[in-house]
Amino acid sequence: MKFTFVTLFQNIVEGYFQDSILKRAIKKDILQIEYLNPRDFSDSKHNKVDDTAVGGGAGMVMNPQPLCAALNALKSIDEDVHIIFLTPVAKPFKQRDAKRLAKKSHVAFVSGRYEGIDERVIEKYADEVFSIGDYILTGGELASLVICDSVSRNVNGVLGNSDSLSVESFETSLLEAPSFSKPKDYEGNCVPSEYLKGNHSRIRSLKLVLSEYKTKFFRPEQFIKYNCTSAMGFLPKETKR
Ligand code: SAM
Repeated sequence: MKFTFVTLFQNIVEGYFQDSILKRAIKKDILQIEYLNPRDFSDSKHNKVDDTAVGGGAGMVMNPQPLCAALNALKSIDEDVHIIFLTPVAKPFKQRDAKRLAKKSHVAFVSGRYEGIDERVIEKYADEVFSIGDYILTGGELASLVICDSVSRNVNGVLGNSDSLSVESFETSLLEAPSFSKPKDYEGNCVPSEYLKGNHSRIRSLKLVLSEYKTKFFRPEQFIKYNCTSAMGFLPKETKR
């Protein structure tokens, strides 16, 4: 799968791919990462990419010409590229979006800077828009990386053990049960004894109870949804006791 980052600040993005799982996936050619800098497409004398806001207002806005030229170039190479704009006003990105986008062959992320991107560019080129939360970042690069990372985990072959995906939080209405590592006793705090007895059916049952407690504590609104579905007998298969 290919990701193209349309950004004025390639350096901010590049570092993320230089370690760990995504680095390995790139080495194995499961993921390809490319960059496109709108500044390289500017037809102004000093490669300007922004201007003052028409109608007044603080700060600069990324103007259409360099971005449109960059996106036209991208589409001329791959007309199927799925173009995502990052903006704090859009719908929030969710796990189900990560799974859906992992089936695409090429996703491009367009990062805004300054006060954002001229709305006409978004209207013309966006296949989709996403926010990563109700707060304002300096630019779209971090938001693009968040989405890229989460989509990549769902691309076949990226994770060593893809089983881990199916039990993760947000795969069902319950959050994942707490995880423990070794030693069994760390400074007097022991892992739940049931985890040590090797009875997998009992461990599964305990994990389900712990998942329910965890969801109720951290995500009460999600727990209400879970309670309704289980009461109606619609428990997802993997959460059935
Ligand atoms: N003036 C804009 C507003 O109030 O809606 C905010 C612009 S922000 C300083 C600059 C860029 O950062 C945006 O164009 C967007 O690409 C990115 N950005 C900021 N916060 C974001 C968020 N929560 N999710 C996704 N992108 C975000």
